[in-house]
Amino acid sequence: MELLDGKYWSNAILDEIKSELADIKGKISPDIGLAVIVVGDDPASKVYVKNKISACEKVGITSKLYTFPTEYTQTELISLIQKLNKDSNTAGILVQLPLPKQISEKAILETISPQKDVDGFSPYQVGLLSIGEKSLVPCTPKGIMVLLKKYNIPICGAHAVVIGRSNIVGKPISNLLIQENATVTICHTKTRNLTDITLTADIIIVATGKPKLLTADMVKDGSIVVDVGINRINGKLQGDVDFEAVKDKCSYITPVPGGVGPMTIAMLMSNTLEAYKRQNGIS
Ligand code: NAP
Repeated sequence: MELLDGKYWSNAILDEIKSELADIKGKISPDIGLAVIVVGDDPASKVYVKNKISACEKVGITSKLYTFPTEYTQTELISLIQKLNKDSNTAGILVQLPLPKQISEKAILETISPQKDVDGFSPYQVGLLSIGEKSLVPCTPKGIMVLLKKYNIPICGAHAVVIGRSNIVGKPISNLLIQENATVTICHTKTRNLTDITLTADIIIVATGKPKLLTADMVKDGSIVVDVGINRINGKLQGDVDFEAVKDKCSYITPVPGGVGPMTIAMLMSNTLEAYKRQNGIS
């Protein structure tokens, strides 16, 4: 068994982004800005945002953090995003989800300019991804694909089973795997005989938010397991995979923490750089 070391690769990618950014800045001295908007006081969101801001500092992206109380209105948020859409110093706009219930996620994602949608959640970017056109790919699925490629995992022709069908992980990772010629089965809470399906998988991606959902009896020998789950149990992070029991059956597996999480942050930096380059005609 070999670990898919997201921490190592995310640091390597952040270093690459840092030197590419320094090169661009040396030539045209731009301010490459990422606006991060948080509404409410979700504790997990605070941790994610802190990590995103510190990655910006590491690579040389200028982050601007906007925090608002839970009562902040949809109208106020839309008007801020419209302002940022027009701001030439803001290359990327990220609205941390989840949002308080009075704010429609759909309305907000539709307001973010597709060119600045570094999370890749806007309908336009989702549409591009689903038809296989170049898009700003959601950070977590993009990070998973990069990680698989770093370890030369064969994807073409593999049977990939994705457990979870969310818009931010399950659906986009399924699209990316299809584009790489995997045969993809998408599972969810209504799937019958989940174990029968996972036992035929070469690659299993688990994104359910259910701690230890994937157990050793669900995994065939030699399979590759990617654990997207982040669950806080008694103050400790726990994935969706029963890591200790599953690891010895796998050829490769991601740890939690240190697997998909750091790759997600690195891909946000990568998307911000990509958005900036496209907005400024840099190839
Ligand atoms: P989500 O929107 O809650 O979706 C969960 C999906 O899992 C749903 O499609 C659900 O099926 C399915 N599911 C739940 N229980 C299941 C079961 N027992 N059997 C089969 N399918 C089941 O979650 P998400 O936003 O995709 O996030 C999933 C996990 O990944 C969470 O722990 C989240 O914190 C983590 N996450 C981590 C990162 C990272 O950077 N590492 C990024 C994003 C998310 P139905 O559709 O039928 O309800």
